[in-house]
Amino acid sequence: MSEILNVPEIFGSDVFNEATMKQRLPEHIYRGWKECIATGMQLPLEVANGIAEGMKVWATEKGATHFTHWFQPMTGITAEKHDSFISPTGDGRVIMEFSGKELVRGEPDASSFPSGGLRATFEARGYTAWDPTACAFVKDGSLYIPTCFFSYTGESLDKKTPLLRSMDEVSREAVRILRLFGDQQTKRVIPSVGAEQEYFLLPKDMYAKREDLRLTGRTLFGAVPPKGQELDDHYFGTIRTRVSEFMRDLDEQLWRLGILSKTKHNEGAPCQHELAPIYTNANTACDDNQLIMAIMKKCAAKHNLVCLLHEKPFEGVNGSGKHNNWSLSTDTGKNLFSPGKTPSQNAQFLVFLTAFIAGVDEYQDFLRCTVATASNDHRLGAHEAPPAIVSIFLGDELNAIIQSIIDGTNYTEPEKGVLRIGVDVLPAIPRDTTDRNRTSPVAFTGNKFEFRMLGSSQSIAGPNIALNTIMAEELSRFADVLEKAEDFDSALQHMVSQTLKEHSRIIFSGNGYSEGWRQEAAQRGLSNLPSTADALPTYISRKNIDLVTRHGIFTETEFRARHAIHLDSYNKIIKIEARTMVDMAGNQILPAALRYSKDLCDTIRGKKNLEVSCRGETALLRKLAAHTDGLYDAIESLKKALSGVPAEAEAASHYCRQVVVPAMSALRVEADALETLTDKSYWPYPTYSDLLFY
Ligand code: ADP
Ligand code: MG
Repeated sequence: MSEILNVPEIFGSDVFNEATMKQRLPEHIYRGWKECIATGMQLPLEVANGIAEGMKVWATEKGATHFTHWFQPMTGITAEKHDSFISPTGDGRVIMEFSGKELVRGEPDASSFPSGGLRATFEARGYTAWDPTACAFVKDGSLYIPTCFFSYTGESLDKKTPLLRSMDEVSREAVRILRLFGDQQTKRVIPSVGAEQEYFLLPKDMYAKREDLRLTGRTLFGAVPPKGQELDDHYFGTIRTRVSEFMRDLDEQLWRLGILSKTKHNEGAPCQHELAPIYTNANTACDDNQLIMAIMKKCAAKHNLVCLLHEKPFEGVNGSGKHNNWSLSTDTGKNLFSPGKTPSQNAQFLVFLTAFIAGVDEYQDFLRCTVATASNDHRLGAHEAPPAIVSIFLGDELNAIIQSIIDGTNYTEPEKGVLRIGVDVLPAIPRDTTDRNRTSPVAFTGNKFEFRMLGSSQSIAGPNIALNTIMAEELSRFADVLEKAEDFDSALQHMVSQTLKEHSRIIFSGNGYSEGWRQEAAQRGLSNLPSTADALPTYISRKNIDLVTRHGIFTETEFRARHAIHLDSYNKIIKIEARTMVDMAGNQILPAALRYSKDLCDTIRGKKNLEVSCRGETALLRKLAAHTDGLYDAIESLKKALSGVPAEAEAASHYCRQVVVPAMSALRVEADALETLTDKSYWPYPTYSDLLFY
């Protein structure tokens, strides 16, 4: 641990990246690969074979014995199946082989992944295909090949394919706009993403003693400890040794995999931490975030810790989210959300900004749905996370500019003049962000947007697919108008001010947690979908289906499949949690309370015999008795609620939300009351104090 780490030397050393390819592959193979990337053409077999051979030699030198097609099924995590390189020679020996065919295409036995009805049982096969824009890497003795996952009939069964499609779409539409502003160079526009990851670390032995943590990733019971996070003594505090050793180890592993792990610090809650990488293109950022989450878990185990990625592991303590920083930049490195210095640059910036505002307003429910999960329901709308209502924070400067554009078109007093985009000089837009409004779900932070509604455990693919697609949609509408315009400047002026006028209701700078905002948002006509059950029906609204199919991100069938999977997963998670509660309450909590009550009874009886006062014990016993009755009844109610879940998925989701979740809360109240009354030595599992202040 104390050796000096040569970071530039180890960085990316386990990745078969472009530099390694150039060095390792025959010239014509390398060129062939480059050409396919540039044109999107399929790899010729000869090129695939050449790459496979180079990869195999490189990977086996790094100790790999296996290869795996690594993919991102609709579960939101990753999947892999490992095959060894061995091939028999016929005389009892083996050689290590890996062909272009094996590199490019795989057929995992993947019939158990959720397909949302996309694969009929008679054709359950799924295929994987290498995504040659993502680099292969070596991890844990295997060569990992990032792949897309699709069905026999060609439907996408994963999160990578639609993400790649959305990146192409937004690129094409953004390039159209750039051309109108005289940019002839840019060939591609790339969505850039930096995802800040929050997580909790707990001691492994304590975790192992709690069934709720093991089965559901969060505590379903637990009285609030005498000390919480009110002192704010953890936020950015000194990192304890065990944790900093974990972080060092984690960074090293991530750097070896070419992941730009940059910032680490303690977060608001006790035992909570954050890791932020430097941003990269959306596809790589998504792959990297999956690796970050997986390696965090593995690395924690090595340090006798457990990494919790759940959105709300502890009640009364801040939950974990993921801030998705998103922007667009050109292949020449220009950030399209950087306000410019000249009027024309500013006009271009305003077009992109306006498109974003319009897209978020028009598709607020779509964005909301991409972060709707059972676990994120605990966060959105609670005091530490953004509310479930989507709005955009721009900061005072931009607000003022937008307001003047909106007012300008209606303006009648001649001496004040009209603010004309692209003609008159706009005020220089400062790059300062001044944004410390933590309550905003979508905040402009100088040259990018920070989408803060994501849950800590979720894949970032869905939200980025949505951001790219709504942006592509609005830009394409703008380009349609502007390409035909006779007078570009006035068409631009009209379009920007008109669009801002229509969509400025989505802009909000105040406190997103306040009740006042909820009321105001309703008056503005913004949608408020507090739970997953409320949100998901809007996912497959005609407007959203039209959007994703128009841009070829999903077919309608593919899109409906996602909806079915999200719904199913919501219902399953609530049911698993409820069953775990019934089990723990009935088999651990009730017996503990009864044992303690029995001992109290014995004490009281003994004291009575000796005519000693037992007023305290008796009062305590009465309280215990009231709550054990309460617990028993609450267990029965929850069981009854569970037995009534309707079979149809959408009905089940509403029922879970309206009947099962309240029954779970009622049970928890009784259990937590018993915890505070019961002698700790009787309690069957570690308490919040044990877990959070170890
Ligand atoms: P803050 O401290 O305000 O949250 P930082 O500047 O530290 O913001 O950046 C937070 C995250 O945003 C980092 O992951 C960073 O790499 C990422 N980021 C910065 N610029 C961009 C950009 N142009 N596109 C996407 N992400 C970006
Ligand atoms: Mg941030």
